[in-house]
Amino acid sequence: MWAKPTVEGEKMASNISVSAKETNGEQHVVYIDGPPQECPVCHRGQRAESTGVNYLIGKPKEGFQALECIYRCIFEDCERTFISQYLVKKSERKGRFIRSLPEATQKRAWDDAIKAVSPEFVGIYHQSQTAEAKELDKIAGPGYRKALEFLIKDWLIANNVGTEEKIRTMFLGKCINDYIDESHIKAVAARAAWLGNDETHYYKKWTDKDINDLKKLIELTANWINIHELSNSVVKDMPEES
Ligand SMILES: [Zn+2]
Repeated sequence: MWAKPTVEGEKMASNISVSAKETNGEQHVVYIDGPPQECPVCHRGQRAESTGVNYLIGKPKEGFQALECIYRCIFEDCERTFISQYLVKKSERKGRFIRSLPEATQKRAWDDAIKAVSPEFVGIYHQSQTAEAKELDKIAGPGYRKALEFLIKDWLIANNVGTEEKIRTMFLGKCINDYIDESHIKAVAARAAWLGNDETHYYKKWTDKDINDLKKLIELTANWINIHELSNSVVKDMPEES
């Protein structure tokens, strides 16, 4: 759970003192490298207030001990309490910030056009983000692949009247090949599908690519779809004068 601090971490300036309680009831002053920079729930920064409740956890191991400090976010629409964890070097009584809990996933905010094209895509993408944040990478990868399939198929169905049944049951690669005309989006979507297939299949072909490459390609695919949808709505709103 606790990683040793890096050299830079050990050299960081310790500028705040906190009074922390040991299991045996003793109070110790520990110098931490600052209050948490952001609330782990609303992900906004520098408005956390210390509750003054700080505990040194368990016995020191190899000269290090865990410190947990309880803070409260003071943004009115959040106000959550959270725990910031520090790793303390006992000999120096210096604590380095590790993380704050509970970690709420910062959901990717998709444009309205994408939300309108495929609400399912948005929902599955957010669930995949949650899985990824919980380090469930074996679940997150196939989740992103599924999200991509919904995005592309929902978009194609919306733009090709009467094809719903056909597209729904078609392989994603064939959908991209048969129904997408723009060469750029076709190239990006096809690559996203290749990487996505790697996340769901037993044999991994793109060994030097990972979930971040897949997410990057999903972003590009969504950007292209967004531009396509926005361009169409502008043309619809401003038809050529006859
Ligand atoms: Zn907050």
